[in-house]
Amino acid sequence: MAEVNMEQLLNCALCPNMCRCECPALQATGREAVAPAGKGRLAALINEGKLNWDEAMLEAASYCLACRGCTIHCPFSELNLCDELLFSRMPARPQGVTLPQVDPYLNNLRKYSSPYGQKSDPVIKTNRPGERAGGEEVIFFNGCTSLANHPPSIEAAASVLLKAGVSFRMTEEDCCGYPALVWGDRELGRQLAEENKRKFAESGATLLVTNCPECWLTFSEYYPDLEQELSLEIIDGPSYFLRLIKEGRLELKEPDPGSSGELGAGVISYHDPCIWARTAGTISEPREILQAIPGLELNEAQPSGSLTRCCGGGSMFQLAFPDTAAAVASRRLKEFPSEAALVTACPFCREGLLQEDRPVLELVEILDRYFK
Ligand code: SF4
Ligand code: SF4
Repeated sequence: MAEVNMEQLLNCALCPNMCRCECPALQATGREAVAPAGKGRLAALINEGKLNWDEAMLEAASYCLACRGCTIHCPFSELNLCDELLFSRMPARPQGVTLPQVDPYLNNLRKYSSPYGQKSDPVIKTNRPGERAGGEEVIFFNGCTSLANHPPSIEAAASVLLKAGVSFRMTEEDCCGYPALVWGDRELGRQLAEENKRKFAESGATLLVTNCPECWLTFSEYYPDLEQELSLEIIDGPSYFLRLIKEGRLELKEPDPGSSGELGAGVISYHDPCIWARTAGTISEPREILQAIPGLELNEAQPSGSLTRCCGGGSMFQLAFPDTAAAVASRRLKEFPSEAALVTACPFCREGLLQEDRPVLELVEILDRYFK
């Protein structure tokens, strides 16, 4: 795993916390200890050997939703505080310091390759049912969160790929390993990475499409650190679906007066998942798709795009700190136009935003509804 960058961490430790207004952990709790510079100071002192891990310190250093909101105002362009915190937390577990509330999820991960426990059914979908794996062009990776919380999004994704005539396979949705890394079990993260890498290589696919931003981040940025770099091209779901539309493989259906369903008058607001917007740079692609659909009117949240705010779902926060995750989501929900239904492109964001009596759909569900 990449090393802690002490120079960058010390920059953060000595900073007057210029990004405090953007940090959802601080804004939701009011705790200075979990402000970006607070966490930076804690991590710097521990890395320098001036403090030793205990549970309270690990909890504070874990109070990061990996939203990278702090980068908006940060003067240090090379600083990635959420990664510095993640790398800094790694030695805590070998020293016997853990967050007790995540242990059941880690046990599930070890036993079932999913933090959510035993999977209902292995989701293996392909455009060649009955045939053995191998020869598909595309692996479509939904992620274990979709399987556990919202299988209709998996059905929608498979339906869209079939309509587009894509030669694809969905795997058994074993976890990408991100939760293990976030919770400081590097070896478990490495094992999951190794297993996924083996399965992807066996498939012969040349393209890996991820519906979940956290899976995308893990495959793209953490697998190389774990010496499990993937040899296929990795692309985010919204960009891939736009590519299919531009290639003419997906076309708009005839307008159907009843098709908007729970979207009511058709006013929608797109919530940018932090990783898509700030790390992948995928901002215009989902909007191009949504704006192409007659009868839908895009009404933006403030802020949106690269200035988006966290929904409370980043960095497995909904599992580790559910009350704070809900408070972060409440804050974000106030930033959407009140009449708009919500669309997003992340299983964690969908889960986080489902707090009010208004619809939240995933982009794949919109695609399945409006394209043929
Ligand atoms: S993340 Fe950047 S702006 Fe925020 S406290 Fe650290 S150094 Fe300062
Ligand atoms: S990545 Fe997000 S949650 Fe973590 S310190 Fe930065 S602003 Fe706060």
